[in-house]
Amino acid sequence: MPATKEQVLAALAAVKSPEGAPLPATGKLSEVVVSDGKVFFSITVEASVVQAWEGVRKAAESAVRALPGVTSALVALTGERAAGAPRAAPPPAKAPGGHGHAHPPRGERPVQGPPGVAAIVAVASGKGGVGKSTTAVNLALGLRDLGLKVGVLDADIYGPSMPKLLGIRGRPETLGGNRLKPMSGYGLTVMSIGFLVEEETPMIWRGPMVMSALTQMLREVEWGTLDVMVVDMPPGTGDAQLTIAQQVPLAGAVIVSTPQDLALIDARRGVEMFKRVNVPLLGIVENMSYFVCPKCGERSDIFGHGGARREAEKLGVPFLGEVPLDMAIRETSDAGRPVVATAPDGPHAKVYREIAGRVRDQLKGRGTGRVAPKIVIEA
Ligand code: ADP
Repeated sequence: MPATKEQVLAALAAVKSPEGAPLPATGKLSEVVVSDGKVFFSITVEASVVQAWEGVRKAAESAVRALPGVTSALVALTGERAAGAPRAAPPPAKAPGGHGHAHPPRGERPVQGPPGVAAIVAVASGKGGVGKSTTAVNLALGLRDLGLKVGVLDADIYGPSMPKLLGIRGRPETLGGNRLKPMSGYGLTVMSIGFLVEEETPMIWRGPMVMSALTQMLREVEWGTLDVMVVDMPPGTGDAQLTIAQQVPLAGAVIVSTPQDLALIDARRGVEMFKRVNVPLLGIVENMSYFVCPKCGERSDIFGHGGARREAEKLGVPFLGEVPLDMAIRETSDAGRPVVATAPDGPHAKVYREIAGRVRDQLKGRGTGRVAPKIVIEA
């Protein structure tokens, strides 16, 4: 029998705030979402006392996980600044005098990456629906085909799509303590908020909550040793995205855009966002670049193909490649059978592998970690 919300609240009454009050009585709990044995809620406290509450968050998670009928629990701790108080982590602004930016120094990002991961690469887009997640998953598989050990972190908590794109069902196992075992599919190590909460569960995420959930997915998941972790970012360039770009130690970012002008304006914003926080731009991918008629094989540039390449040149960012608009990509993607894994000899897999090769070269060129192909001995 799945646990009920009442049972969860009763268990939380045994967890005490730093001042000794039972957690449900503190007024700091969000709505507790219980769905088929999966529990999710957040604790919101003033930013200045977040550290004192981290133990409470962990205790709450353990208490809920220990309940019979609970299969997973995710507790986000959110630091909220009081009205008028300075921001705990201000986005880097132009330095006084207007010269340059006040960048956080590289390597001093507040969130540590998992210890065994050599390079974290963000896949981002200026807006939704341009094929960011499809690109992320096929790029990850392309990197896998180059002999790298690859993980995928689905940070698109507004619309997690990795469970669907990789056709992975089930829930991550809990290991000792608060740690979770990631899922796997097509040789990739995968974690997504979609494994922890029901897809239909409506969730309102604010910037700090995003970071809190993401920090847990980075730090409390046994990622093991990975050459590259591909992070599927939430679409757009809002507060949540900026926070991730600023706080996660990214080795670089890949921007996905369609060729249309409007999408390119959004893509430019994406480029600007990463530049602002000093994350190297590994390049731009033009998705749905051209259309090959499935009947006659004729190619047409319905969206004015080539815009992203020109834009990349203008911005001084590498151009990584063009992915055609093709039903096969859409169908395999939406059916959980990504094209690079299920049609490895086809033309699309080749395109994605070439893009992956350029991403790998960009990482190598920047001296990021051990991104060298492994020797694969075929049986
Ligand atoms: P985003 O992550 O940017 O919101 P998705 O990757 O979810 O975008 O893609 C949106 C839709 O477009 C999905 O149905 C996906 O299958 C489809 N799609 C993505 N790239 C292509 C492509 N190159 N050709 C055809 N369909 C595509």
